[in-house]
Amino acid sequence: MLAANLEEVEQRIKAAALRAGRNPEDITLIAVSKTKPVEMIQEIYDCGIREFGENKVQEICTKSEILPKDINWHMIGHLQRNKVKQVIDKACLIHSVDSLRLADEISSQAVKKGIEVDILLEVNIANEATKYGFMKEEVFDAVDYIRELPGITIRGLMTSAPFVANSEDNREYFHDLKQLCVDLRAKNIDNSTIEFLSMGMTNDYEVAIEEGATHVRVGTAIFGEREYSI
Ligand SMILES: *Cc1c(COP(=O)(O)O)cnc(C)c1O
Repeated sequence: MLAANLEEVEQRIKAAALRAGRNPEDITLIAVSKTKPVEMIQEIYDCGIREFGENKVQEICTKSEILPKDINWHMIGHLQRNKVKQVIDKACLIHSVDSLRLADEISSQAVKKGIEVDILLEVNIANEATKYGFMKEEVFDAVDYIRELPGITIRGLMTSAPFVANSEDNREYFHDLKQLCVDLRAKNIDNSTIEFLSMGMTNDYEVAIEEGATHVRVGTAIFGEREYSI
């Protein structure tokens, strides 16, 4: 059953890419497995998926112990500075860098471990009071600051668009994030590392792809609804 869900998501990704004149292979599907048991993750792994997303450091640590080592774990949730040390050598990409202090901490821990950590800057693209992330206007200064730090590489931008009934309502936000990425690249002509756009979830990944997403983070459409009761 999970295989059928995955198949449908993959078909829709492909169709959305083709509608936008894009190569479907340029879009990475991250299966968001937060709260889901390792058995379900293994099932999706067996279908060929290697990119999985989690929003808690603890879950990445436990699951990566048990599951196959060739899984790429994406940290997509708000990251506390005191947990950076545990996660930087387990996640392939931290999508949720939402403050300069967090970037500082990632940098110093990366230097200590002698590694390079790839990150995305989280942008609060719709100015929502409840969301983490840099405001659009803050992103240029944040990039200028973070790109000077050792041990950390900005690979792009990430956003979680508002929860809306009609995904078309988020098109403008995805468009804005894409434009921001283009502007950053134009400004930092030497900094071609800014190329990823992580945007689009179960409710809006097709619109996000039409607007330029390179990474979509899809949970519910693959694994089903989450239970938070435990
Ligand atoms: C949970 C989560 C997702 C996946 O959400 P779905 O609606 O289940 O697809 C994507 N991104 C982030 C940051 C999340 O926390």
